[in-house]
Amino acid sequence: ARGLTKVYRMGEVEVHALRGVDLDLFPGEFVVLLGPSGSGKSTLLNILGGLDAPTGGEVWYVDHCLTGADDRALTQFRREHVGFVFQFYNLIPSLTARENVAIVTDLAERPMRPEEALDRVGLGDRLDHFPAQMSGGEQQRVAIARAIAKRPAVLLCDEPTGALDSSTGIRVLETLEQVNAELGTTTVVITHNAGIGAMAHRVLYLADGRIVREVRPPRRTPARELNW
Ligand code: ATP
Ligand code: MG
Repeated sequence: ARGLTKVYRMGEVEVHALRGVDLDLFPGEFVVLLGPSGSGKSTLLNILGGLDAPTGGEVWYVDHCLTGADDRALTQFRREHVGFVFQFYNLIPSLTARENVAIVTDLAERPMRPEEALDRVGLGDRLDHFPAQMSGGEQQRVAIARAIAKRPAVLLCDEPTGALDSSTGIRVLETLEQVNAELGTTTVVITHNAGIGAMAHRVLYLADGRIVREVRPPRRTPARELNW
């Protein structure tokens, strides 16, 4: 992303949500986005994932410029390359875990079997459970299974632990870390869970629409040095 700006206009009021963001995401990276409420985290994630368009600047995916692409091309981009995980799991209550994952695999070119996706998030023994029969953390892990089943190159997670208590949240973050390590899925996570720092290759701090700080925790092998 280069020079991203986003201005929301509400009648007379202008909100400058992003004020010039440059960002490179490398294949296989696990990046955490932190920052105070209103700093522009969700706005940035939505623009990176092609859910929203910037006011200025450009987003590139490999050698495709997403900015200015029509809706059909953006939908195609999201469908092929991006998985999303949100705070609320958006599972269909009348479908089992397996069926919730299966509904998206029809759209993918070389999908994972729902059983494999659920196994990867540690729910191989919950295939026939309905959402109401699972804990919040389990439901979120079904949502992660659904997001990875089409083998997206990029996984974008906006407060996936927002509705969970801290230790359940850590379990969900560990699931994301494991998916990143095993599948090499480039992952960006917004979270307030303090346990996240050590899992990330990079932590970016957003304040008032700008990236103000970047930290590389020492624990993990930098993604660029991994052998993809
Ligand atoms: P939080 O941690 O509370 O989720 P955030 O960092 O994700 O915050 P954003 O949702 O990106 O923040 O919002 C950034 C700014 O843009 C805020 O001031 C918000 O009020 C404004 N904003 C976000 N979405 C819209 C919208 N659809 N219309 C108008 N203003 C918006
Ligand atoms: Mg947000």
